[in-house]
Amino acid sequence: MAYAYDPQNIFAKILRGEIPCDKVLETDHSLAFRDIAPKTPDHVLVIPKGAYVTWDHFAADATDAELADFTRAVGQVAQMVGAAPGADGAGYRLISNAGRDGVQEVPHLHVHVLAGRPLGWMIR
Ligand code: IMP
Repeated sequence: MAYAYDPQNIFAKILRGEIPCDKVLETDHSLAFRDIAPKTPDHVLVIPKGAYVTWDHFAADATDAELADFTRAVGQVAQMVGAAPGADGAGYRLISNAGRDGVQEVPHLHVHVLAGRPLGWMIR
């Protein structure tokens, strides 16, 4: 399957430095920043620097170095906001919306790291 990537999406603009972000973490292949409309007290988005639309696109086409870096970046952010002693070890949730049925707004792969309050089972 071919994945069409729109280089004008807002996260591509953040990666090119064309619009600012509230950066939490940057690694060789990944960037994490606070969501502009947070749904929880700590709501961080982790994105790969490469041009990937969804998780399945990333899993199919990314290099092992990109996959490892991104997985570690997500874990590091979760540690920072949801599981570290400073965050009282209360926990967190990871969400990655994909495509129309997944209600994906921004067509660049991102993982939401949600923390800072009890979440219940679903986020609305
Ligand atoms: P999606 O529905 O999983 O695609 O979520 C996209 C997320 O990106 C939403 O939670 C938005 O609030 C967030 N978002 C959109 N534009 C920006 C931005 O410029 N900075 C940070 N977060 C953004």
